[in-house]
Amino acid sequence: MLKFIGVGSAFNTRLGNNSAFIKEGQEMLLIDCGGTVFHDVQQLDLLQGIHKLKIMITHTHPDHIGSLGEVIFYCYYILKIKVEVFYPNEALIKSYLRIIGVTEDMYVLDGNCEVDFELNGLGLIHAQWVQQVHVDTMPAYGFILNTEEQRLYYSGDSSQIPDKVIEELENGELDVIYQDSCGLDYEGNVHLYLYKLADKIQPQYRKQVYCMHLDQHIKMDEIRGLGFNVVEREPVPNRIE
Ligand SMILES: [Zn+2]
Ligand SMILES: [Zn+2]
Repeated sequence: MLKFIGVGSAFNTRLGNNSAFIKEGQEMLLIDCGGTVFHDVQQLDLLQGIHKLKIMITHTHPDHIGSLGEVIFYCYYILKIKVEVFYPNEALIKSYLRIIGVTEDMYVLDGNCEVDFELNGLGLIHAQWVQQVHVDTMPAYGFILNTEEQRLYYSGDSSQIPDKVIEELENGELDVIYQDSCGLDYEGNVHLYLYKLADKIQPQYRKQVYCMHLDQHIKMDEIRGLGFNVVEREPVPNRIE
């Protein structure tokens, strides 16, 4: 159900910063808004005709919020709409936005751990944030998103996958997982090494798991060889990959 603007890790800018979206008519849900995202959103013309934009922010690393200010400014000044930002630590995101000149009258913030909202054509959506294990310098979250069609898990950046998520996948409650996956394994890794993911997910469930936030070391044929899926970016005409 999710489409992707970028699928790369912070330094793998060739694939764009990892960011997903659902666009239905004049309404859009955007997941993360890293440094390369506003540029790609403009290239894809995604904000054309948008009347309602909701943005879920998983954490405050630059490859996840680097162009959030530009998107809010563009919506406020050009589209004349206020972005609705979902992030479960209000004080942190408010202070970041204040520092970059985004004032509180330009956006609406929802800091709840569970939220319900409607999106054109998709009906009522329930989102529940899940605390992640990423870095010591900031909180990081993933979420479970429940629509009338699908229940999905989105990891954000995380070095682990919660047992509860795997249980839900195995007992048929979860339809799809989007998981931060990387190609290097080392002590203190803040992302999830592909083969650690493979240790956790039985082969019969791997088709439901989409690897994302790809670093320069991960290989597409290795991901697919293990039976996982991999997310793909929306194509932009004339972009050199
Ligand atoms: Zn990241
Ligand atoms: Zn991160």
